[in-house]
Amino acid sequence: MASLGRSPQALQLTLALIKPDAVAHPLILEAVHQQILSNKFLIVRMRELLWRKEDCQRFYHEHEGRFFYQRLVEFMASGPIRAYILAHKDAIQLWRTLMGPTRVFRARHVAPDSIRGSFGLTDTRNTTHGSDSVSSASREIAAFFPDFSQQRWYEEEEPRLRHWPGC
Ligand code: ADP
Repeated sequence: MASLGRSPQALQLTLALIKPDAVAHPLILEAVHQQILSNKFLIVRMRELLWRKEDCQRFYHEHEGRFFYQRLVEFMASGPIRAYILAHKDAIQLWRTLMGPTRVFRARHVAPDSIRGSFGLTDTRNTTHGSDSVSSASREIAAFFPDFSQQRWYEEEEPRLRHWPGC
């Protein structure tokens, strides 16, 4: 993949989701969107969609069999979600830091200003998702944005954007 051997200042892509608990509340949706803008992510693509249960099952298949799996699938299919392709230096790690820990009790204690610490309702209804590695970002971006060519973006657009003052 074109991300290999990239220079230190290069931009990285990640997939971010705003989950149904946050999309349902306009002020929370706006606050999360503002976090994206104020941290100078480039919004490369964005869409809102309603997931089918089968889509959620496929996306979270690694958790199949765990006690929260069924709850997670039902929740993620319960209302619209918003999906973003975001670009930034170290976008994957930066977005995950802004989200905060997975579990809300922990998020409220160790990262109270994080998105999950501020807005998470429960361990499942925790406001946002972010890819956790380069390979999962690539896979997840392809799942949500099948018409988007990551290779072309890294080859043609990233070199033109990396010195843009907003990055
Ligand atoms: P993350 O979303 O932080 O990458 P995971 O991949 O481990 O975390 O989990 C995927 C999602 O499953 C979480 O965002 C959360 O919605 C749900 N989840 C994870 N762990 C639990 C748990 N212990 N109890 C309830 N829901 C959970």
